[in-house]
Amino acid sequence: MHFIGKIRSTFLCACRECQKATGTGHSAVAIANAAGVAITGEIRSFSRPADSGATLTRHFCPTCATTLFAESSRWPGAALLPVGLFEDQSWFKPGQVLFNRSHQDWDILPGEIPLHDTYRED
Ligand SMILES: [Zn+2]
Repeated sequence: MHFIGKIRSTFLCACRECQKATGTGHSAVAIANAAGVAITGEIRSFSRPADSGATLTRHFCPTCATTLFAESSRWPGAALLPVGLFEDQSWFKPGQVLFNRSHQDWDILPGEIPLHDTYRED
């Protein structure tokens, strides 16, 4: 993945799908403009309905199945980037927790950030 552009916002997602996909208590995500993300090589995609009724599409490497980025019909033009893909993650500061309703007690979250039962109410 090659990323040029600006991170618009960041969040941790404790939804059940992210727990299954990551094998842990939450995913760490940075939102950027999809236009600033370039992928070289083959990618495959998988779409599923999200709890919100939106469609979530994960784009992944067909060889190793690593998720490269995701898109949601809820946020057109936005790319959801897994923070773990970045070699240097020192810049990452999670801005909020989404789907706190399925947060697991054993999963330690950073203090002092907003917790939302599902999505942030806009
Ligand atoms: Zn999630």
